[in-house]
Formats: sequence, C-alpha cells, structure tokens
Amino acid sequence: MSKGTITKVAGPLVIADGMRDANMYDLVRVGDERLIGEIIEMHEDRASIQVYEETSGLGTGTSVESTGMPLSVELGPGLITTIYDGIQRPLEKILAQTGNNLKRGIEVPSLDRDKKWHFVPKVSEGDTVVAGDVVGTVQETEVVEHRIMVPPTFKGGVVKSIKEGDFTVDEVVAVLDNGEEIGLMQKWPVRKGRPYAKKIDPNIPLVTGQRVVDALFPLAKGGCAAIPGPFGSGKTVTQHQLAKWADAEIVVYIGCGERGNEMTDVLLEFPELIDPHTGKSLMERTVLIANTSDMPVAAREASVYTGITIAEYFRDMGYSVALMADSTSRWAEALREMSGRLEEMPGEEGYPAYLGSRIAQFYERAGRVVALGSDEREGALSAIGAVSPPGGDISEPVSQATLRIVKVYWGLDAALAYKRHFPAINWLSSYSLYADKLGKWFNTEVADDWTVLRTKMMTLLSEESELDEIVKMVGMDALSEADRLKMEAARSIREDFLHQVAFDPVDTYTSPKKMHYMMTLVCAFYERSAEALSKGASIKDIIDLPVREAIGRFKYIKEDDIDAEFAKIDERLNSELADALNKEEDY
Ligand code: ADP
Repeated sequence: MSKGTITKVAGPLVIADGMRDANMYDLVRVGDERLIGEIIEMHEDRASIQVYEETSGLGTGTSVESTGMPLSVELGPGLITTIYDGIQRPLEKILAQTGNNLKRGIEVPSLDRDKKWHFVPKVSEGDTVVAGDVVGTVQETEVVEHRIMVPPTFKGGVVKSIKEGDFTVDEVVAVLDNGEEIGLMQKWPVRKGRPYAKKIDPNIPLVTGQRVVDALFPLAKGGCAAIPGPFGSGKTVTQHQLAKWADAEIVVYIGCGERGNEMTDVLLEFPELIDPHTGKSLMERTVLIANTSDMPVAAREASVYTGITIAEYFRDMGYSVALMADSTSRWAEALREMSGRLEEMPGEEGYPAYLGSRIAQFYERAGRVVALGSDEREGALSAIGAVSPPGGDISEPVSQATLRIVKVYWGLDAALAYKRHFPAINWLSSYSLYADKLGKWFNTEVADDWTVLRTKMMTLLSEESELDEIVKMVGMDALSEADRLKMEAARSIREDFLHQVAFDPVDTYTSPKKMHYMMTLVCAFYERSAEALSKGASIKDIIDLPVREAIGRFKYIKEDDIDAEFAKIDERLNSELADALNKEEDY
C-alpha cells in the first residue's frame, strides 16, 4: 500500500508525492479525515487525486494513502430502493449518522451488513457452475427477484455445499470444489464495464407507451438516447413517464444536478411515483444515485460510473434495465473543471480533448447482451442521457459529442411546451436510427402496415411544415384544397395522436395495438378524404366531419374497448364521407 504526502491542494484536486507504488484510478484516502479520492493522473511518484469530498482545510504535508484498489461498488441485495450518493454511500444512513451536515470521510458500507436476506438455492450440491451462473435467488423487494450469480472473475467448478437460509451480504452461501466461496455480494470496479458473453443486435423496442416515442422515434432495448432539457420543456415529466412505463424491470436514475435543490426535487419526487404495474412505489424497482449539494462537482463523475455499473449488474441477471442520467452536461462540466486544474491542453470551449471518448465509453456500456453463464439469459441496458445545452443550442461540444454516439434524439422543444403541446418532442428535429430495424419488429408483432403508417405520418408532418411557410406568406386561402386537406390531416396527427397527457389515467400509456389503431384512423381520415375530395366532396364538409371528434377522443378509450370503438369509427368515417359526396351530387 502506497503512502504519500500532499504537496498541493486546488479545490477538488490534490497532488501528492511519494506515490510511486500506486496505480492510476486507485482509490485513496486523503488527510486525517480520510476523504475519498481517486488517482486520475500519475507522473513517476506524483499522483493527481480527484477528491469526492470537500477539501477545505486540507493542507500540504498531510498524508495520503492508496488503498491499492480501484473505486468499486458493492453489488448485492439492498441496492433497490436505496438512494446513494456518487460514491455509493447510502444517503439516508449517513444522514442518520451525522445529521443534516454531512461529515467528511465518513465510512458507511454501501450494503447493509446486518440485514439478513432469505436465500433460495437454484442449483444443488454436485452441480457444475461457471462464472455468471445463477446459484440462487433473494426476493429483494416485492417486485424484484435478486439473482445471485457466480462472480465473473471466478473460475467455477462443482458445488460442494449450498443451503437455503437467511444470510447477510458478508456470509457465504455456496462453496465450490476449488475453494471459491460465493456470497450474496460481489464488488466491481466502476470504470470497467462488466463482462458478458456477447452483444446482440438491439432489434427489440423498449416499448414506452408514449406515442411520439414508440411510433415515430423508437428506442431499442439496449440502445442509447439523448434528450435535451431546456427549462420547462417537460424533461422531468418525460423522464418520469419513461421510468414508469418503459418495459424495463429495473430503473437506475443518476442525478448529477448542479444546484442543491435540483437534486432534492428528484429525491422528493421519485419516491412519490407509483409504479403503474404494481400499484406500489416505483422505488421498489429503482436505484437512485444523487449527489448532494455539499459534494464537489467531481463526484458527478463517480456517480455516472457508479450508476452504470449497478445497471450492468442487473442486466447480467437477465433483466431489462433503463438507466437515466440527468444531466450529462453537468458531468462534462466537472470534467472540464478538473482538466483545467490539471492544466491539460483545452479542447473546444475549454472541454478536455477526451470529452468525446469519455461520453462514448459511457454510452458504449449500454447494450443488449447474452450474459455470462450457461443458461444464455438475455439482458439489456438502455441508456437515456439528458443534456442541458446552454441556451438550448445543440451545436455546443457536449451535445455534439453525445449526438455522435447515441442513435435516438428526442428533441424537447421549448416552443412546443409554450404552446402546451406535450410531450414537447419536436417531430421535425428528432430522430431514431433504430426506426427501420424496430419497424420490422412492429410489423411482425403488432401489424404489418406499422412502418407504412409511420412513413405516411412523417411525410404529412414534414409537408405541413413546408405548407406552413407558404401560409405564413400568402395565407391559407392561397392553398389548393388538396393542400388544405394535408394541413388538416397533419393537425390531426399532432393533436389526436402525438399530443399525450401524462396526467390522464388512460392517455398516460398507449399499448402498441391501440397506437396502431390510432395511426390507422388518422391516416384513414386523410386518405379517404383525399379520395372523396377528388370525387367532388367539399373541403369544408370534410373538415367538419363529425367523426373527427371521435377520432380525437380515441386516445381516451380504455384498452378493453378499443376494438369495438375502432370498428365503429371506421364505419362512421366511410358513411359520413359518402354523405358528403352525395350532398355534392344532389346539388
Ligand atoms: P422541466 O423539467 O423541463 O423544467 P417539467 O417536466 O417540469 O419541465 O414540465 C413542465 C410542465 O409542463 C409540467 O408541470 C406539466 O404541466 C407540463 N407537462 C410536461 N410534460 C407533460 C405531459 N407529457 N403531459 C402533460 N403535461 C406535461
């Protein structure tokens, strides 16, 4: 173990000499208060240490001790429902110990050492297990079954002993013939992605029940998305909707907020959310990582890695995990600050030259994988990162670096939010590079014309924006009747389909089947009306068709009633259009 002496303190950066035996990314204890830090640069025997706690009062000459181990997280039962800080300290526990004023250097284990968990074996003595195999389970919360796996670093072998019973995370639950002991807990260094057998093509959607997402800009299970968050554009509501409704068994939420209160919002709001699938608190399947306001910005970096490592661990169990990081821009700012202090050569806008590769490394840990182990179970880690570009201008380096790596971009738009169009995801600027691949899934699993309808809607929406320009210049009357119909159809797509109220009990979630009915209806209105128009029906009669009201209200129809309602509207549309045509012929 290497012990050195502080030669310089500059905010969260501490320089120590005499650290020749230490390694890059070693976890170190700094000063008498044993503050937690990580070596981020080594030059011969001089270590640059990023300290994750307030460094005021630290002076030169005090000692620094390397633990010889990288910054790691504890993985085991007890993760779910806990709120951690960036270096995986359970916030409630440290607050209970120290009161509201966080004491520095405090040591509280990440996983409770006293709590006993009921372990049920899934293999028997004499069975052979390999790294990654599930040896048993613990019911961690009412909704999450925690699968106890042979750690990835183990060789594996024949199970010599295993028993059902109540254990703490420190106790051994199974022993292999080669002496390897399996407990309920494993440790993993946060900067290293957890291993898996192989990555598989992300060709299944992460169904979210949010129409603009699933129908227009779908995210794959194991995919990455970015969402910019101008103030008041509905970023929080959107993230909550995804956390509640996306078909992920586990949610990991990393808050690297800036102002203290931003973070408190998350701390207060998240535990209040109700999981629609179980009626219980959403925390029953959530791990929350939140930096407190008294931690220096450097801790944001640790929180990002802590969060994704926990997410990978649940992925390895074979779960679909949704990870949300809010906001990655704050993390990038922390990198910039530290890089400045290290006197590195600045890149664009002062961000370090490695900004892009750091962001890429983070998102590359998402994916759909076959986990280690002989049962070839499949897990997925989908990552959704919020970015907060200053002034909403996404030409800045963090947004650009993010957009280069993610395949989905949900462009939240302050102007749409101002008009109360929610979710305020701009249909012209957003994209999903998974759309084609996932379209095949929707075509097979939901309806074979899914992608055809999607294309029709996208085309009408983009035509609308062009026509809008003309209308602005010369007015609606200058448009041909066919173009006016297009404008009406696009309006119907926006208002009847894309607009979705998060707070309405029915509208808050739309199944793919219902979504398909809605897509069919808005497109049918356009196509059948265009035909009627070409046969002489009046545009005014078409715009005023009473059935349009029913199309608009379809979003509020309960899932049980959608078949009947769809058939009714379909028929009404035909008969009302026929009436409109007859009316013209009568003249
Ligand atoms: P931000 O986090 O970007 O500042 P919020 O998520 O708090 O913004 O949203 C601001 C307001 O917009 C909310 O209080 C809510 O009234 C409205 N809103 C946002 N998204 C939706 C939605 N999907 N459905 C209904 N209202 C929404």
